[in-house]
Amino acid sequence: MSEFHEGGCLCGSVRYRVNAPLRDVTTCHCGECRKSHGSAGAYTASPDEHLELLSDDGLTWIESPASTTNAVRGFCAKCGSSLFWKAPDRDYTAISAGTIDEPSGLQSVGHIWWDARADWEVPDGLPTSATGTSTTG
Ligand SMILES: [Zn+2]
Ligand SMILES: [Zn+2]
Repeated sequence: MSEFHEGGCLCGSVRYRVNAPLRDVTTCHCGECRKSHGSAGAYTASPDEHLELLSDDGLTWIESPASTTNAVRGFCAKCGSSLFWKAPDRDYTAISAGTIDEPSGLQSVGHIWWDARADWEVPDGLPTSATGTSTTG
């Protein structure tokens, strides 16, 4: 099976392709992801050189205001889908897992910034990290 994935935003204006295996899914509960996504952010990731934008109409990047990594977030200005997270000193782009076309072949492997989670979140038994420190970045 060829190892590539495609995905996109809700309205289809932003489409992308990843020409490499994707990282399994880590869910980030930090305050910035919660505000940006409306809930915790479930992310896979791609090395930058393997992420190709097929259509970037509407794709807008904003600074994440309190990011400890000076990260920027990419979203579709037409439909509001939150798609990407990128820190300048990292060689990969985090991709909102829910925007990947299915079947994704991915699975959830854990939670980061678990101590910052919403008070209605309940544990699901996967490993948690209190902060952003994890094997997946
Ligand atoms: Zn859109
Ligand atoms: Zn986060």
